[in-house]
Amino acid sequence: RLGGDEFVVLITGEYAGREMAIRQALNVARKIQLAIGGNYHLQGYEHTITSSIGITLFPERNETAADVLKQADTAMYRAKEEGRNTIAFYNPEMQKEADRRLSLEKELRASIAEKRFEIFFQPQLDSDGALAGAEALVRWLHPDKGMVLPADFIPVAEETGLILELGEWILREACACIKGCSVSHVAVNISPRQFRQADFVEKVIEILQETGTNPRELMIELTEGIVIANIEDTIDKMNALKKMGIRIAIDDFGTGYSSLAYLKQLPLYQLKINDKFVRDIETDPSDAVIVETIISMARHLGLSVVAEGVETADQFAFLEDKGCHMFQGFYFSRPLTRDDFTEYRRSLLTT
Ligand code: C2E
Ligand code: CA
Repeated sequence: RLGGDEFVVLITGEYAGREMAIRQALNVARKIQLAIGGNYHLQGYEHTITSSIGITLFPERNETAADVLKQADTAMYRAKEEGRNTIAFYNPEMQKEADRRLSLEKELRASIAEKRFEIFFQPQLDSDGALAGAEALVRWLHPDKGMVLPADFIPVAEETGLILELGEWILREACACIKGCSVSHVAVNISPRQFRQADFVEKVIEILQETGTNPRELMIELTEGIVIANIEDTIDKMNALKKMGIRIAIDDFGTGYSSLAYLKQLPLYQLKINDKFVRDIETDPSDAVIVETIISMARHLGLSVVAEGVETADQFAFLEDKGCHMFQGFYFSRPLTRDDFTEYRRSLLTT
């Protein structure tokens, strides 16, 4: 406490960039506002507390502690001028980034309420060129910007918790397609925050029942990060899913930090080879070795393996030669709308 009704919060940490740090600071500020805001009943009277928060980031140049406090103070006064319950950044550039982020969040929230999203399906094929299944990939149908790719909004949805509602909708839509498109499986990406919900498994069961989906036709893609975060909870949930017949794939395998000792404890069905490794498979010897190792490891562990981002015939030939047996990428097909996917499936059957 600096004095009176002024407090200082110091956040330390390593961030992957300025934008990340701005977002993190903004998230903390919003949590503080939520925690202290609201109505208080004191001796028969109702009181409302709001807060004005000023934020600065350092080190930017060679600021002293006093400089940093002064900047935060200046930002705080600006927040006050702008009205109650406001957050302001010291640096106009940071403010711009924060504004951009807040408006994105607002638009995302509105779009989720209006279900302005569409699921695309990217075919997964086996070595004979037969359709093995599909991965469900979400797109945001933004009212002004047109189609927005997941990289530009999933992180925001994840940080704000909006992913819970959106993810549930995605899962429901994907299940509906399994039936409607008669494809043997659909793989759905599950965000860490979604998977960590205490009632995640129950939610999945509910959606399967609601949509009349056979659990054997649903695959769930999880990233390695989930595994490290809370191994026991992860194993429990995975076992519960597996018991129902749902298959679990590890997405972007080899890009995280999970230990093999952990991985072998998990009831997995499939490893997905990230497109980063596939891209330079013919020119970068270390990528080729990584891919070969993943394929051989999968084989020894009795797991299925699928290569993502296959763009050329040469990449396909290389992967097949090494024993990979499932493929996904632009070489075969881009992600398709549900109708186009159904058409694609039909064309494969007739050729
Ligand atoms: P991911 O799970 O690794 O998905 C594969 C991404 O690679 C997709 O991008 C796909 O369009 C792209 N891709 C497919 N084939 C090729 C290829 O041959 N070459 C290249 N260069 N790229 C290819 P997309 O759809 O933009 O999705 C990006 C990421 O967003 C996904 O990465 C996934 O992590 C996340 N995501 C997508 N849909 C969902 C979703 O429904 N829920 C959640 N939680 N995350 C999602
Ligand atoms: Ca995926």
